[in-house]
Amino acid sequence: MKYMSSSEIREKFLKFFESKEHQIIPSASLIPEDPSILLTIAGMVPFKPIFLGQVKSSLKRATTCQKCIRTNDIENVGMTARHHTFFEMLGNFSFGNYFKEDAIKWAWEFFTEVVGFPEEKLWVSIYQDDNEAFDIWHNLVGLSEKNIIRLGEEDNFWKVGPTGPCGPCSEIYIDLGKDKASKEGGGVGVDGERYLELWNLVFMQYNRSEDGSLVSLPKKNIDTGLGLERIASVLQNADTDFETDLFLPIIKFIAQNAGIKYKEDEKNDLALKVIADHIRALVFMVSDGIVPSNEGRGYVLRMLLRRAFRYGKVINYNQPFLYEVVPVVVNLMKTVYPEIYKEENRICQVILTEEKRFQETLNIGIQKLDDLKQELKHKNKDTLSGKEVFKLYDTYGFPLELTRDILKEDGFGIEEDDFKNEMKIQKERSRISRLSGTSSSKISTKGELTIKTRLEALKKRGETEFIGYDSVEAKSKVIAITKEDKLVDKAVTGDQCKIFLEKTPFYAEKGGQIGDKGIITSISKNDLLAKIIDTQVSIEGLITHFAEISSGEIKVGEEVLARVDSLQRKAIARNHTATHLLHGALRDVLGDHVKQSGSAVNNHYLRFDFNHFAPLSREEIGKIEDLINIKILEDLKVETKISTFDKAKEMGAIALFGEKYGEQVRVVKIGEFSLELCGGTHLNSTSNIGLFKILNEEGIGSGLRRIEAVTGFGALKYIKEKESIIKEVSDKLQTIPSEIPLKINQMIDDANNTKKKIKIIRNKLAHYEVDKLLFKKKEIKGVNIISLKVDAEDNNELRNWGDLIKDKIKSGVIVLGTELDQNKVGLLAMVTDDLVQKGFNAGNIIKSIAPIIGGNGGGKKTMAQAGGPKVDQLNQALEKVYELI
Ligand code: ATP
Ligand code: MG
Repeated sequence: MKYMSSSEIREKFLKFFESKEHQIIPSASLIPEDPSILLTIAGMVPFKPIFLGQVKSSLKRATTCQKCIRTNDIENVGMTARHHTFFEMLGNFSFGNYFKEDAIKWAWEFFTEVVGFPEEKLWVSIYQDDNEAFDIWHNLVGLSEKNIIRLGEEDNFWKVGPTGPCGPCSEIYIDLGKDKASKEGGGVGVDGERYLELWNLVFMQYNRSEDGSLVSLPKKNIDTGLGLERIASVLQNADTDFETDLFLPIIKFIAQNAGIKYKEDEKNDLALKVIADHIRALVFMVSDGIVPSNEGRGYVLRMLLRRAFRYGKVINYNQPFLYEVVPVVVNLMKTVYPEIYKEENRICQVILTEEKRFQETLNIGIQKLDDLKQELKHKNKDTLSGKEVFKLYDTYGFPLELTRDILKEDGFGIEEDDFKNEMKIQKERSRISRLSGTSSSKISTKGELTIKTRLEALKKRGETEFIGYDSVEAKSKVIAITKEDKLVDKAVTGDQCKIFLEKTPFYAEKGGQIGDKGIITSISKNDLLAKIIDTQVSIEGLITHFAEISSGEIKVGEEVLARVDSLQRKAIARNHTATHLLHGALRDVLGDHVKQSGSAVNNHYLRFDFNHFAPLSREEIGKIEDLINIKILEDLKVETKISTFDKAKEMGAIALFGEKYGEQVRVVKIGEFSLELCGGTHLNSTSNIGLFKILNEEGIGSGLRRIEAVTGFGALKYIKEKESIIKEVSDKLQTIPSEIPLKINQMIDDANNTKKKIKIIRNKLAHYEVDKLLFKKKEIKGVNIISLKVDAEDNNELRNWGDLIKDKIKSGVIVLGTELDQNKVGLLAMVTDDLVQKGFNAGNIIKSIAPIIGGNGGGKKTMAQAGGPKVDQLNQALEKVYELI
């Protein structure tokens, strides 16, 4: 097998499935859109609504590299070769399109042809009753019968719940050889160390009905997951996942900072693996917006951090240290996941704060746990009560998982159910105290409605009607106001609040288009001026106006005038309509494989992300710009229409993945050039864009590109800026703009010539200076020594000096130092041949004086060189030479 880096594997996988007509879709957030799921645990999670038929999508085939978090494997991390909390799952998906045969065939093709696994080492498991899968593996692929294992429902049948979509799966394993067999032994599906599970292919083919029977699905789906870390370990011939290029740099950094070496001590190694694993999870969770807390995702984050911090103690970290590992993870992963790079500072900050918070109680908590262990031993017990575990949690911030770890090391367990009970009681207690003020024992029976349920109740009375497609101004009734998340009757001058209207012309941020800004004023004599600084959807269907009251007051129930900033709206529309043109032009110029994977549209510029494997050439960018500007000048009509999803698709409208489409969709049509499903606000015709100009094109991850562009006034501003730079340059050069390149070439030539001349002059000068230097020669025990500072521009010149002196001195030790550019020092040592014979050595001289200037160096016996940053130590280094001799 050929070595393959993890980035090569990602790229090969996505490219392979792209060649099989799959759309590459960037990794979704670790926070799933589906509120019933805590974290993204597999590649299929972002597609779940499509698989379950909850949303419509025109997507037929997709492939992803999805970031995942699993906490159910946490106790395995570092203990097995293959389990992580954070990992990347490669996957290919079919939405009622291809099925079992293609899924199996392509998996086989990828494994045997693209990455080159030897066929005889591959094993597969299938569901016991899935003869169809057996048939494909055996007869079509040609896999030997003995390499196909049938497993039961527990292992090889996938489902989301007791009813609903489900189906058999087939897993692909690689045999890593007898050496890897675990103590317990066993075959495929049992010994996970020898038979490493790499890829799971799920065949969603049934619906389980209420009575438990399986009904064939009319549209069958494929969902597969291949662990990147695991396949990398095989292709990099690594002992475990932790020795791959995904982990090793992190482990090495942590080990070096701790002053230890990886692979010298088992206990240390476990700590290094756990910390390296958890820090990856921390970086990605924080970058996706999770913050430490005592509940839900925040709890998972806090627990992982505290667990990692405690393992730090094992390898002698007693101060916050995890935050220092963040840049290592960021550097390793930023090309694939740019979001972590952008958030680097914040991630460090969040982690450091949480480390500091825990540092204070960790030692006391550990002390307390030691005492409890002694007590257990004394009483001959082997489990700690839930009450004590809860106390550790409540007082010292020890998550359950951490207490469990520490006790396990000495063979103790904990009463988990008991602990959970204690947690419940505490939650109840705090709920009561919240409801009844601080301490009152009276319990309000009704309970308090949260703002969310209030808003939901509000919504039941009707969604906010959006009328902004046709107008930017409307009279409307105020139906609610909230301040600091409490419902209020009114807001007054100086207040910041959220305003809800019966109907509104304000567009709420959606589909990449930012929310409108504008003002709300009073219709009556009141001097109300509410500045609307943003518009968002807080609950599906409810449009929220974020307001600052500049003057007057606004009351629930009153009629107001809502006015969108129409200039800004127009600028946004220019960029949005241009985005559709860009999408069309990219497909025209680069090919139909181009699909949008994200976009951002505001009044200043537009950003468009799409899949394409190579950087765009200058010609391609030029062509795209030209085509769009032609479409602008053609003055194409922009029309919108409400239609059904199926009809729109039939018409050939482009739908975007990740957008939820209901039965009714809005279609935006630009002449005959572009047809897209879109809810944004657009121009009436393309000519209003004015001018389209691309600012920048760059890669943002495996197979993904990003274009940033401007239109209208933005384009004008861009051109003016460029123009003024050109003007400044041509003024300075005293020429006209068209002559700038010529003039600059001349100047470069001149500068080069001058440099050459200066070199010649400096050389000549050196000849004269050398005689002066020879006067400063010292003689110690019959050896001529020159150790001096000279004025040389670079190392070449320094050597030149050395040669000149050597010529004249005939026999001696010469050490020269010079200040180079950028605060650096250059050192040179030379020893004449006769002295080398006597045991003098230029290399050794350099080695002993280089540390003084904070550097190192070396060379031969006759000549050696070094460089270092400490300019102010140069004289001292030169003095040292006399001492040495
Ligand atoms: P295992 O039995 O080894 O824990 P699994 O059956 O739980 O694996 P799946 O849920 O089928 O795994 O996930 C699909 C693929 O994702 C696996 O084949 C594996 O390559 C990878 N994977 C699953 N869990 C982890 C994990 N905790 N760490 C790293 N990779 C994982
Ligand atoms: Mg598992």
